[in-house]
Amino acid sequence: MNLTPFFETAVLALNRSKSAELGDRTRYIGSSDVSGCARKVYLQRKNPTTPSVSTLLKFSRGHIAETLIENIFDAGGVKHLYDTQVELRHPAYPLKAHVDFLFYADLDGTPELHVIEVKSVSGIPDQPYPQWEDQLAFQLGLLRLQYPEGKIGGSILAIDLNAGQVHQFNGYEYNDSIFNYLYCRALHMLDCLEEKDEARPSVSHLCAFCSYRTDCPAMNVPKVDLPPEIEALAGKYAELNGTKNRADKEMKSIRQELMDFTGPVFKGRSNTVDLLVSFVAPSQVVDSDQLKKQHPDIYSAVLKERAGYTKLECKPVNTPIKAATV
Ligand code: SF4
Repeated sequence: MNLTPFFETAVLALNRSKSAELGDRTRYIGSSDVSGCARKVYLQRKNPTTPSVSTLLKFSRGHIAETLIENIFDAGGVKHLYDTQVELRHPAYPLKAHVDFLFYADLDGTPELHVIEVKSVSGIPDQPYPQWEDQLAFQLGLLRLQYPEGKIGGSILAIDLNAGQVHQFNGYEYNDSIFNYLYCRALHMLDCLEEKDEARPSVSHLCAFCSYRTDCPAMNVPKVDLPPEIEALAGKYAELNGTKNRADKEMKSIRQELMDFTGPVFKGRSNTVDLLVSFVAPSQVVDSDQLKKQHPDIYSAVLKERAGYTKLECKPVNTPIKAATV
């Protein structure tokens, strides 16, 4: 049985059926569009492309994560507290959001509305990406329009299925000025689709997964003739950097396997290797976001200038576009 050609069509069919749940995306601006790049949104509507099987499989990882979280909520006995894939609409314009999980009460039953946006990742970041926060802020804004009264909050649940880790970035609330900014962005995108304004690129970590990257003006670099020895050095640097990134990735997964074996504390010496795992006690750091929010005068008084530095980047030309993390 050869599954490869079967997969190529079946994964496409799966993606089509999952996309169908979101309706015709050419007819509205969604919360993930608002937080993204206007040029990409425009081209997705005007010149749609089919992502590779690899990209589609990674998209599916997002759906799998949502199903897993749903099963966990249900096993924990809170099925009655939430709905999934709740559609929120703006009353006047074709602006929508599909909320992964909308809780109608806290886990103790106290009434409140809480949006949970699930992100399947390969490595949980220290801070949520700005695009995640904008997506959630837009959802909270549309929710506030629908429910003008009562407590509304939200969180981003990042889950790394390979590492078996989950982290909740919590404490988001409806914010009038952020929603207003995102609402204006959404209206700008509608204008772009109606050819009334120019859809400009905006660069983010998602550019790595963009199908419209090859001719994107934000990615263009001027053509130059480099001396051969400099070109060779830059190529070598790029190659070593790739090796370093691959090694980092491999070390991360080996680390997980070793820690699965040792647990959080271990000391041992085999014939060839010392294996030591120790626990570093938690420490306290100043939460600069909270400081800025709660004590802006103190925050500005303790700011100090950080010295600039020279950044060197060497990348192989025509780097294949990596598949998306959803
Ligand atoms: S490469 Fe980045 S900036 Fe360019 S269209 Fe794609 S997402 Fe936008």
